[in-house]
Amino acid sequence: MSSEAAGGGRLIVLSAPSGAGKTTIVERVVRAVPGLRRSRSYTSRPARGGETDGVDYRFVSRGRFEAMAGAGEFLEWADVFGDLYGTHAGDTERALSEGVDLVLVIDVQGARQVRARRVPSVSIFVLPPSFAELEARLRARGEDTEEQIRRRLDVARREVLAVPEYDYVVVNDDVDECADRVRAIVLAERSRRDRIAATADAIARTFERADGAR
Ligand code: 5GP
Repeated sequence: MSSEAAGGGRLIVLSAPSGAGKTTIVERVVRAVPGLRRSRSYTSRPARGGETDGVDYRFVSRGRFEAMAGAGEFLEWADVFGDLYGTHAGDTERALSEGVDLVLVIDVQGARQVRARRVPSVSIFVLPPSFAELEARLRARGEDTEEQIRRRLDVARREVLAVPEYDYVVVNDDVDECADRVRAIVLAERSRRDRIAATADAIARTFERADGAR
């Protein structure tokens, strides 16, 4: 990914254990912040009821996904719960070059790949208030079998070990407050000096006197 494109928008990488409420949080933040979009991942998993191709994910066959991965079309990709998920490099670059900030809702393996590629990004880990609370939320959701719940909890145990790799950690004890904190992070990142250097320089130049006198 070219640094020119990356100099436009910024990537916001957001990871959380399954059931921590990341979908709701990201939806709220994207609605509240202009110029912020959620990246649409490709996946080899079949669409669930209520999911639409091109809205929730781009659903493709495993064969197609593997061919795309082999051709280097993904910025990052990973096997999550036995299905393949990936962020399309070209789509990402296009959005960033338009100056849009993109939220990638990806797992910890994908977050590591983004970091390894040195694409300018900020990472946020959303933590549930406790393991017991996560278990209770997964059960209340009623989407999974007992075995799936066990598997998600096992993966969550491993994922929280990656918390120290992230720039920010937000605890989802209250969805409104959590979304507010993520929104604050996105806005604060936009005020980083390196991001507004061109604007700040242009403003500073308006303070210079035409005759060069102090
Ligand atoms: P679900 O199938 O429940 O929508 O998502 C399962 C997991 O896949 C979530 O933890 C989500 O973060 C992860 N995921 C979704 N899209 C991507 C992606 O493009 N790359 C990676 N690495 N993980 C993803």
